[in-house]
Amino acid sequence: MQPGHTRHSTGGLDARMEAADLEERMKNYIRQCVAFHTSPAPGILIGAFMVDYALELLGVSPYEKLYGVCETPKCAPDALQVIAHCTTGNNRLRVIPIGKFAITINAATKEATAEAVRVFVDLKKLKNYPFIDIWYANSPEYVKATMDEMLQQEIFRAGRGILTSERVRVTVSGKRKWKPVTCPCCGDSIPDYLFGDGKCGGCGPMGYYEKISGKQ
Ligand SMILES: [Zn+2]
Repeated sequence: MQPGHTRHSTGGLDARMEAADLEERMKNYIRQCVAFHTSPAPGILIGAFMVDYALELLGVSPYEKLYGVCETPKCAPDALQVIAHCTTGNNRLRVIPIGKFAITINAATKEATAEAVRVFVDLKKLKNYPFIDIWYANSPEYVKATMDEMLQQEIFRAGRGILTSERVRVTVSGKRKWKPVTCPCCGDSIPDYLFGDGKCGGCGPMGYYEKISGKQ
């Protein structure tokens, strides 16, 4: 769990989905997303609606080979992973920390670019949903302890009602050819395209640890 990412109670989730009369497909998506995300955080719930909407607009099944982009590292990437199977590990998910609650999905193509559908939370549409509005704005008026349930109810009632879509064209990056290069600092072998400034990223700007014991 990252700092600032507080847990949200899962109690009553099913009851609130029933009350909002969500379709069975949507309820399943949400249950799977919540289990994977380990919390029914508002962002993962909204993310599930975003991915479902984008798939429908693109006219694709979630079992096709799809590529996703998420414009925030918060919550929404997990909806792309769980529902559209665009994952970090299969390299079909790009998370670009632009800070917008927006996703883009396209189907696999051999072309250099692909037509995609971009879906985002539309600020203009939040005015009809006061809890989502203040939560989304990170307003101090939003009090998690007392408003969490109402926020969830509102997210389910809103569904796609807070989303806007557009058709976009995205660039597609093909599989890279590579050969191994040995880093002179650590002696490890890495793909040549990740080698820069005479050393590997770990010995350079991407180093993220300091050694506290010798190798065993
Ligand atoms: Zn190195």
